[in-house]
Amino acid sequence: MREIVSRFAPSPTGRLHLGHAYSALLAHDYARERGGRFLLRIEDIDPGRTREAFVAGIEEDLAWLGLHWDGDVVRQFQRLPLYAEALERLKAQGLAYPCFCSRSAIAAEIAASAAAPHGPDGPHYPGTCRRRSPGGQKARMAESHAWRLDVAKAARRAGPLSWFDGGQEVAAEPEAFGDVVLARKDAPVSYHLAVTVDDAAQGLTDVVRGRDLFPATHVHRLLQSLLALPTPHYHHHPLLTDAEGHRLAKRHGAPTLASLREAGADPEALVAGLRMGQAPGGYALAIA
Ligand code: GLU
Repeated sequence: MREIVSRFAPSPTGRLHLGHAYSALLAHDYARERGGRFLLRIEDIDPGRTREAFVAGIEEDLAWLGLHWDGDVVRQFQRLPLYAEALERLKAQGLAYPCFCSRSAIAAEIAASAAAPHGPDGPHYPGTCRRRSPGGQKARMAESHAWRLDVAKAARRAGPLSWFDGGQEVAAEPEAFGDVVLARKDAPVSYHLAVTVDDAAQGLTDVVRGRDLFPATHVHRLLQSLLALPTPHYHHHPLLTDAEGHRLAKRHGAPTLASLREAGADPEALVAGLRMGQAPGGYALAIA
């Protein structure tokens, strides 16, 4: 039987809160209950938002909760050559194109169009740069640019795809996202590409993460197919909400694990409660 491998993959853009604790715990327990390995990956590819102090905070908070990971902590910023290689493979297949559009130009074009298609991430990129001639592209390559996936072409190339989520087969519909970004102007890789490459490179058999990331799996499944990478089993779990039913988020002032610790919370009781689907302080477990 193959060994189960799961992971927790936070972005170090703030301190962890109860929602993160719940997600880390589920991923940890999924592997440990099956005699498998639990990995920690720091998703620090966004240079504008990543802070080294938050990386240390993540390790401290997981240790406080008693969640121990196997092997070295993987840092995405140390793996840029791997992502660049994956991007080159997509370019070589004619599935990636450079995009010179600014955010404001994209917004203006969407506002001017009568029926801009919308996906789970908002309005689709209108495809301006997809329609450039090779000569027109070449003339602008010295300008800063992102790289986008030609999602319709890629989906046609890949054919029908699906994945297993909580044991149920889900048909992938990546076109619902439009031409997603593979490499950003300000960061050498996008979340979608980095996560797909790393889940394969780290030998993940099972991805346990929040329901908020369920839609992104349509894109990840397509990228796996294009890059000939294996598809893990996915388990998208319910999210914690506050008393008003809002998903816990840093920007809504969710209490951090650090503040709970300082207030004298007992980590064992916290973890035991979360394992039973109970959260302290009026936080409900929502099926979102
Ligand atoms: N880094 C992502 C986040 O913090 C999670 C990525 C994933 O689990 O696929 O939201």
